[in-house]
Amino acid sequence: MHTHSEIEQLEGKTTLESVRWVNRKTGQRQTLCAGNMFVMIGAKPNSGWLHGTVALDDKGFVLTGTASAFENSRFATTVPGIYAVGDVRSGSVKRVASAVGEGSAVVADIHRYLADFCEVTPKSEFNLTGLVSKNLACTDVDRFPIDGGLLEHALM
Ligand SMILES: Cc1cc2nc3c(=O)[nH]c(=O)nc-3n(C[C@H](O)[C@H](O)[C@H](O)COP(=O)(O)OP(=O)(O)OC[C@H]3O[C@@H](n4cnc5c(N)ncnc54)[C@H](O)[C@@H]3O)c2cc1C
Repeated sequence: MHTHSEIEQLEGKTTLESVRWVNRKTGQRQTLCAGNMFVMIGAKPNSGWLHGTVALDDKGFVLTGTASAFENSRFATTVPGIYAVGDVRSGSVKRVASAVGEGSAVVADIHRYLADFCEVTPKSEFNLTGLVSKNLACTDVDRFPIDGGLLEHALM
């Protein structure tokens, strides 16, 4: 196990023959003969911009369907009208097929949410940010503290 290390160079004539990395703490460089390399990326959710809006777990994945979820939906977050599917959702399977499946399944929840909580709005005035704010006003604002700017960003 090489911690604090970053791969700098892959070498080989026709196939991979060696890997060189540098230890970012000590500056020491090492080269290892290797014919295969497995790259594991994407395990950290890009959810920092959601802080202060929907509830996240301790690793930054979006909590859904918990006791604090706004409604009875597996994909509902703690904020009305905001759902999370796929890898960013806490506890999801982290596979393509399940992300696609969750994306298609959540559509029914969104339709139900729109039918249950939203007034019919002329298309030209349709504004999701306003829509959610309006719903917040008639539910419990203290329970769903939202930064307007962040929410606008989330809904763009
Ligand atoms: C190395 C690797 C290998 C994998 N191999 C497999 C495999 O063999 N089989 C398998 O089933 N699954 C595999 N997976 C998992 C699979 O890629 C994911 O489960 C799947 O892509 C999840 O889809 P998603 O739409 O939830 O998220 P993503 O595919 O990650 O899509 C999220 C998108 O949102 C964008 N985004 C992020 N932040 C913002 C923002 N603030 N504003 C706007 N856009 C934003 C990202 O750029 C990205 O395009 C692998 C993943 C990795 C990293």
